Amino acid sequence: MIVHKFGGTSIGDAQCFANVADIVIAYYNKANETTPREIVIVVSAMSGVTNQLIAGARAAAEGKDTVYREIKAGLLSRHLEVVEALLADNSQRHEVGGLIEDRLHDLERLYRSIAVLGELTVRGCDAVASFGEQLSASILAAVLRARSVRAQAVSATQLIVTDDNFGAATPLMDQTRQRLQQRVKPLVERGVIPVITGYIAATENGVTTTLGRGGGDFSAAIVGAALDADEVWIWSDVDGILTADPNIVPQARTLTELSYTEAANLAYFGAEVLHPKTVRPVTESGIPLRILNSFNPPSFPLNVGEDERGGGTLIVETPSPDRELWPAIISTSGLSMIAVGSQDDTWTLQMAARALQRLSEAGVDVLMFSQSFSEHSLNLVVRQQDQAHCLKVLRREFENGKQGSAYSLGTKEQVATISVVGVPGWNETGIVSHAFSALGKHGTRVIAVAQAATEHSVSFCIPEDQMADTVRFLHRELGLEGGNG
Ligand code: ASP
Ligand code: MG
Repeated sequence: MIVHKFGGTSIGDAQCFANVADIVIAYYNKANETTPREIVIVVSAMSGVTNQLIAGARAAAEGKDTVYREIKAGLLSRHLEVVEALLADNSQRHEVGGLIEDRLHDLERLYRSIAVLGELTVRGCDAVASFGEQLSASILAAVLRARSVRAQAVSATQLIVTDDNFGAATPLMDQTRQRLQQRVKPLVERGVIPVITGYIAATENGVTTTLGRGGGDFSAAIVGAALDADEVWIWSDVDGILTADPNIVPQARTLTELSYTEAANLAYFGAEVLHPKTVRPVTESGIPLRILNSFNPPSFPLNVGEDERGGGTLIVETPSPDRELWPAIISTSGLSMIAVGSQDDTWTLQMAARALQRLSEAGVDVLMFSQSFSEHSLNLVVRQQDQAHCLKVLRREFENGKQGSAYSLGTKEQVATISVVGVPGWNETGIVSHAFSALGKHGTRVIAVAQAATEHSVSFCIPEDQMADTVRFLHRELGLEGGNG
């Protein structure tokens, strides 16, 4: 059995949905003894939908009725557009269209109750964020049925059981395995393709949780482990894990084989193509993961080696010793830096800890932070869409602080991070000094630095408008372009 996970960009619009259906059908038809025919699909929300759902919930908590209503209307038309384009049969179109309308009606009711309460809890936020995957799974299953593939949408709230750590819940594997074996396995054995919602789950009592932003990959690995899958294939919009973002460096190379540890490490540094927790569930059972591009699919059955471009990245326990290994440059734009501190020397580590604690409780991801004692402040890097929420949380925390002392808040918008993640043994002089001198040579302004206790990786926070140039320069300077690794 293969678990195929399709990310948000792979189903960004009607044409992408059709493309995914083509891939599933091509795979299904070509499957033979060497590639198992049984498949399970895990799907993300359409790209951008989860962000919009959360933005709507935050607007509701601030009483901005028109904002959340507009968001709901936008989501309705975007999803109905796909249904209109791909479901030719009238009754199918009405059935799925009606389902989408009902679900979004529920969403609006939820928004309204958040508006009444005037407060958004992480639990409420998870309930809201779960709508995107519910919609996309129903649509994909219907699109497959319209092409005569037996498919059925299944909500992971019925399958993946987690603790109640809302916003980043942890799966309880025994119960999850039991449910998947009981409810999903029989479907697969009857020749039905289950289309499972990624990212979302529920507690034992049935309260909706999420696995963390980008958690659809994690869901796929959980499902794969629970069903003893042969492999888990993560489909996205790039050719695997690369030496740099191919939109910035077109000649970036694909890292064709990585170990679980190497892949997890790259993911922790922000390689968006893989959620960092994804390798956990599959490591124990040694299930291989593959990262493939739905916009550049390989031919089936997979013939790795021959079809190097489409072969993507294979992640296994023990990669082959003769694989090519390169450092990777991971860049993230659309970020803000927030400095929280005191105007005098009353800033303490406890206050820094409190700030991080509150942000985590409020579901704000902090991508990088550094503590400056001379400036009496903590510098935090967050996504731009989280900036306002982050400031609100910090204001609330420190305005009501016991001492009531003067705190300071500063924001630097439009920053980016670049991480250079090396591999032991790649270059004796160390990747960190290489990266520093390259940035100096290029004249990149470095706002903050974070480094692990190894010489193999380092992260920089820099102005966003210098990101692309710097990445291209680094890629060349580190010798990732030609054959001189
Ligand atoms: N839809 C979720 C998100 O945007 C999960 C995912 O795409 O993997 O974070
Ligand atoms: Mg993703």
